[in-house]
Amino acid sequence: MTRNRLRSTPVPGVRDAYTGIDFNLGFHVRAYHLDLSYRVGPNRLDGTATLRLDNWEPLTAMTLDLAPSLRVQRITAQGSAGVEVRVSRFRQSGGKLRITFAQEIPVDSEFTLVIRYAGTPRPIRTPWGTLGWEELENGALVASQPNGAPSWFPCDDTPDEKALYEIIVTTDNPYVVAVNGTLLSKKTAGSRTTWRYQVGNPMATYLATVQIGDYVPLLLSEEGAAVPVRAWVPPALRDSAREEFADQARMLELYTGLFGPYPFNSYSVVVTEDDLEIPLEAQGLSIFGANHIRGDHAWERLIAHELSHQWFGNSLGLAQWNDIWLNEGFACYAEWLWFEHSTGRHAADSAREHYAEIAAQPQTILLADPGPRDMFDDRVYKRGALTVHALRVLLGDDAFFRMVRRYVATGRHSVVEPIDLKREVLAEARAVGVPEDEVKNLWRAWLHQLELPPFPEPRR
Ligand SMILES: [Zn+2]
Repeated sequence: MTRNRLRSTPVPGVRDAYTGIDFNLGFHVRAYHLDLSYRVGPNRLDGTATLRLDNWEPLTAMTLDLAPSLRVQRITAQGSAGVEVRVSRFRQSGGKLRITFAQEIPVDSEFTLVIRYAGTPRPIRTPWGTLGWEELENGALVASQPNGAPSWFPCDDTPDEKALYEIIVTTDNPYVVAVNGTLLSKKTAGSRTTWRYQVGNPMATYLATVQIGDYVPLLLSEEGAAVPVRAWVPPALRDSAREEFADQARMLELYTGLFGPYPFNSYSVVVTEDDLEIPLEAQGLSIFGANHIRGDHAWERLIAHELSHQWFGNSLGLAQWNDIWLNEGFACYAEWLWFEHSTGRHAADSAREHYAEIAAQPQTILLADPGPRDMFDDRVYKRGALTVHALRVLLGDDAFFRMVRRYVATGRHSVVEPIDLKREVLAEARAVGVPEDEVKNLWRAWLHQLELPPFPEPRR
């Protein structure tokens, strides 16, 4: 049941314990080719999704995730290497698209599904608010964490199933379409323009995004930089965005030094005309609201935080949502590391301040498994960052950053679980003579017990 999945531990059960959604089992989607036509005014999406799959179980039927606001019109299939794959029927219910085949597909076949669908895309209602494709005052955005991707394309919506993508969006002029990956071409025909993007590194469904708006480009890195850093901003916010993101390229440089090479070809930020409650991460791209760009650096910590997710969360993806601290703990710690670099305020001082805040609250969240209701609770973020800080204190700076770089390099473009981090910590502890028991005690105290451990103090 776990064969070929990116994760190292078995898939637990048949349902995602956090989203409450049944897994789509028996196959992998290797690549998504999404050809979308979007009309901004009426908020109308017409799509053809071509999925390249292989199956690790014989299949007579399979499911994908797709929101009921999008209706499938037609599905065709094509097997490769002499395998006949024919769709006999399909139906949509409860957010699932169930496809039945005319005859059983033998195990380890490769095949393609071409799914035509259309509708008025709407965000999906979830316990974490509405997620996915959302109409803006003047455009659209997609922010899907954790389970909003089916609001705009049929998919296997689970974080441990990464795939390659080609995303083609045709929309009305003069709107700009920003998508993950590399812009391959942009062609205008009449009143509409087609933007073709390619994502050449594996990506989780929740990190796929389309941003449509009346935007102008802004280069945030030096001309000819190895990793170009760009912004797409409403024309009226151009100057304040330039000011607000002035350090973005320096942040990228710092994190490259601390964590290893930036995992993708480029980094972009999109600033929407609308206000957004919080900034949002996607692969190779982050989304901020107009309210985050007032030119006063009030959101500097989140500008650093979202960038660091490119390493922690996007390149190193999660196998399951209960491990969310691996994303958010490192991203929060990356904020403190940025301030350590830019202001000289040591991360230990940031850690102490947040330790005091957490200590004043009830200790009701288990970091290793906070539960769906609390998965985005600030205590998960801060206790996660304190756990990272405890590891730094235990190993010492040199060994700690060596360990982090090895963890990042090993998990690159894949998924990680806490066991992968622990393995690197134990290896580094051995190398610098820290007893294994101390690693195990730290791990248990911070991750698997409710009680807040003492603040991590360096040994003398
Ligand atoms: Zn985050």
